[in-house]
Amino acid sequence: MADSIIAFRNPSSLFAKIMSDKIFNHDWFRLFNHTSMDEFLKMNQRFKKFGLTPKDVEDAIKSACDFFHIPMPRMIQDLTNVHNGQTMFVNFNPGSYEDDVLCFNMQQLVDMKVDSKEAFSLVMTHECAHRVLQNTQFPGINNGIWEHELAADFLMGCRAGLWGMDDSKIRVGLILTNASPTHPEGALRALFVRHGMYKAIEMRDNSIPLSIQNLLNEFMAYRQENLEQIHHSQRKFYRF
Ligand SMILES: [Zn+2]
Repeated sequence: MADSIIAFRNPSSLFAKIMSDKIFNHDWFRLFNHTSMDEFLKMNQRFKKFGLTPKDVEDAIKSACDFFHIPMPRMIQDLTNVHNGQTMFVNFNPGSYEDDVLCFNMQQLVDMKVDSKEAFSLVMTHECAHRVLQNTQFPGINNGIWEHELAADFLMGCRAGLWGMDDSKIRVGLILTNASPTHPEGALRALFVRHGMYKAIEMRDNSIPLSIQNLLNEFMAYRQENLEQIHHSQRKFYRF
């Protein structure tokens, strides 16, 4: 395996290790393993439309978890055919990975040009970054809601850089998205993906430990460099 993040901030890595030993008993496996043959074939048919099999989805999420050394989520919810179904991480207890739920809407992702296994895995890396940062506070308006997104994008870029993954689809897809109260505009997000990519490679080449804390320090420095633009964009939503 290529370089991966070697330490965590929260929750503790010890907990992560304990959980990873247990994860194969968890509910989410039901989605892939405990369905009837009929349901399984139907699901396969649906995924074929997007070029990904359930196994691809499983692998893509597993490798995103492996990058952070965190266990698989408790449950993976396919919201592709659900009205307003979003690709997102749903957190319950902020102190554990045990109850994490990952949701995805393949149609939404395909609309954003995310139509390969690698690109899907990068999106899941963003969602897994939210899992790793579930207990981390960022400065910024509205409890650093945009900063959380940008940090997750930055860490997704780190993985793309360290594992030699193609992030072009993600960045093209992101650039098509507009800002909202919860998410910065895609152009800003793509900038942080790109920076994560270069920064992580630079750190590795200089033998700087790729800990979450070290990476977050780099993220915060880059946020500082771009603070004026962040605030300028936020003025559309937060007029004070
Ligand atoms: Zn996010």
